[in-house]
Amino acid sequence: MAEVMEYGMFIDGAFVPGDSGEMMEVINPATREVVARVPRGNKHDVDKALASARQAFESGVWSDKKPEERAEILFNAALMVVANKERLSYLESLTSGGTIRRTSTVDVASVAASLAISAALIKELPKVEHAMCPPWIAPMHSYIKREPIGVCAGITPWNFPMILAAYKFAPALAMGNSIVMKPASITPVTTLELAKILHDAGVPAGVFNVVTGPGSSMGDYLAGHPEVDKIAFTGSTAVGRRIAEQAAKGIKRVTLELGGKSPLIVLEDADLDVACNMTLFAFLFHSGQVCESGTRLIVPRKLHDALVDKLIQKIKKLTIGNQMDMATDLGPIASEDQLNTIKEYVRIGLEEGAELAYGGRVLTGGIYDKGFFFEPTIFVNCRNSMRQVREEIFGPVQCVIPYDDLEEAIHIANDSPYGLGGGVCSRDVAKAQKVAAKMRTGTVWINTWHVLRPDVPFGGYKESGYGRENWYHALMAYSEVKHICQDLTPDADDKIMFSLIGLNK
Ligand code: NDP
Repeated sequence: MAEVMEYGMFIDGAFVPGDSGEMMEVINPATREVVARVPRGNKHDVDKALASARQAFESGVWSDKKPEERAEILFNAALMVVANKERLSYLESLTSGGTIRRTSTVDVASVAASLAISAALIKELPKVEHAMCPPWIAPMHSYIKREPIGVCAGITPWNFPMILAAYKFAPALAMGNSIVMKPASITPVTTLELAKILHDAGVPAGVFNVVTGPGSSMGDYLAGHPEVDKIAFTGSTAVGRRIAEQAAKGIKRVTLELGGKSPLIVLEDADLDVACNMTLFAFLFHSGQVCESGTRLIVPRKLHDALVDKLIQKIKKLTIGNQMDMATDLGPIASEDQLNTIKEYVRIGLEEGAELAYGGRVLTGGIYDKGFFFEPTIFVNCRNSMRQVREEIFGPVQCVIPYDDLEEAIHIANDSPYGLGGGVCSRDVAKAQKVAAKMRTGTVWINTWHVLRPDVPFGGYKESGYGRENWYHALMAYSEVKHICQDLTPDADDKIMFSLIGLNK
């Protein structure tokens, strides 16, 4: 067995022990072996990290740097992320269960791209915008500039720990903010590794901090802390709602990226092979533990049986196993809690009258006995009102809903509390575009899925959250807008504004 790694929290430019001295264990979900230990933080650790972030912000050591200077350091960090690809992808896979095939390609590249694109954008963004003096009524110069918000908190989940952290810290740092990250307790390791990389790349002490510990106590305290000016959260809608309530009390800025139950509408003209692969990719990528997974398959009644048959035949060819093996298609479920959630939703589905066309069981025997593995699962004869169709399961579970006409299909797709992702499968470009336009979701994919790029915004409608991550939308979300106005007339009596209350008499 490999040596168990020990980390401190990253505060004020150094790894430090937690206040309590207690540690939390991080396991490999494929084997349940302990692979790392991190401090179980408490409120004192949060206070310390926020004090360090505030001090760094007020000092101007980062916030007052020219955008070009910050950009150079972030570009440097992007290169260092790529240089550390093997270590980062190994640790990401080991602790989160994401396949090494994915983490070593998509995840590392995405983190580097978030940094590089945020850096490139701050160089391009107009430093100031000037308002014209006429038509304003007097000689005045008005200009508008963007400033950092201050101290940000980034709270991240366990499904894509590095990518979702970078979606937050890259734009936050680019705009000159300081940030305190709180990764999920089961996957804190790569966020701590990134702290070291950012520090070595030249991000000054105190600007980027990582605290580790339970979300229910420490995360909650962080989100409600008066020293936090902006919170960015990805995770469950329940915790997102709580964070929004906390933020409302202090009128804090918030970005929330929450759950989803994304619909995939197959049109009658669809190529069945494309529809099959699109459906499988939509709900099985990362074993279904993706917020924008396509988990409601809305299919023409006359294609229903043929498509379900094809899905089942193809599922049988997939390799489910150890995420550290390049040949593995689907890795483990990230935790025992999540495995139990999936099991419970299968029970609910059967109780509500959905029919199990495939799967529905925890995998057992051989390697499966050591970790948390669940069969790809397909429910048919689903109605949109069923709980397992309305609620996020976060596992490899597909719910198939037949439809008779397209209006009905669009209605079913939009009849959801969520609005994160959606998809259309069709050979008819114009028709697919029309359906995409009617979907009430932040992203729509046509004949593909899971394309998230740092150069397009990502976020949800309805209970999937608010605000957008990525691209310049993210930079806007990590900055305040300031209007500076200077009256250019020198004499008190000529200043037209003062005359409004007769001061030029
Ligand atoms: P949570 O929303 O509970 O956790 C996400 C993050 O929030 C973690 O860092 C967690 O810390 C932290 N957290 C938990 N409670 C609080 C709180 N009161 N205040 C501040 N931070 C808090 O998700 P779970 O891990 O419990 O997963 C439950 C469900 O959430 C999943 O089944 C799935 O449906 C959904 N989910 C959605 C994700 C998405 O990408 N939108 C990602 C992950 C989950 P800690 O880990 O210490 O609890």
